[in-house]
Amino acid sequence: TLTIVIAAYNEQAALTAMHPRLAKVLDGLDVAARVLYVDDGSRDGTWEQLRLIAEADPRVSLLRLARNFGKELALTAGLDLVQDDAAIVLDADGQVPPALTPAFVAQARAGYVLVSRPRSRREGETWLKKLTAAGFYRVMRRLSDTNIPRDTGDFRLMSRPVLVALRQLRERQRFRK
Ligand code: UDP
Ligand code: MG
Repeated sequence: TLTIVIAAYNEQAALTAMHPRLAKVLDGLDVAARVLYVDDGSRDGTWEQLRLIAEADPRVSLLRLARNFGKELALTAGLDLVQDDAAIVLDADGQVPPALTPAFVAQARAGYVLVSRPRSRREGETWLKKLTAAGFYRVMRRLSDTNIPRDTGDFRLMSRPVLVALRQLRERQRFRK
């Protein structure tokens, strides 16, 4: 069983396109899958849009945070609630294709507890974002003893042992990548 966890902050427009794409992928999966959207204190119509999505699709659950906590804490709140065998974290902005989900599930079946992949391009991002992201990873790799893969994004599958381990780490300044 699988839960897709998606943090959304002011993603009304993106969600309208994103959920049908995701639903189609879930329809084709050979595991029971559901979706948990976490509204991270959005100020646009994200919550109303999520309500519509949840009404139309029984696989969808919603969590609404009282204010904007930032992506990492929003995902922490969502991942804490997962009871399935595995969770996949997906962005609401459609930058990573949900179509990769079956491949991730196959890897989990093969025994991998953590599955991710480098982000090949940063579609729709400004040159400034690309530049600062590249700089960020360069500095992080220099400062840290841990090998942080460049540009992984948040798209990943975590199976139960990983979720259980992650739940023991309660830091509030979190950098999951
Ligand atoms: N997000 C969130 N809270 C925030 C900022 C972002 O929940 O305060 C969500 C956002 O809606 C998206 C995901 O986190 O689904 C990734 O955000 P973004 O695209 O800004 O990050 P990046 O692509 O740089 O990883
Ligand atoms: Mg993004």
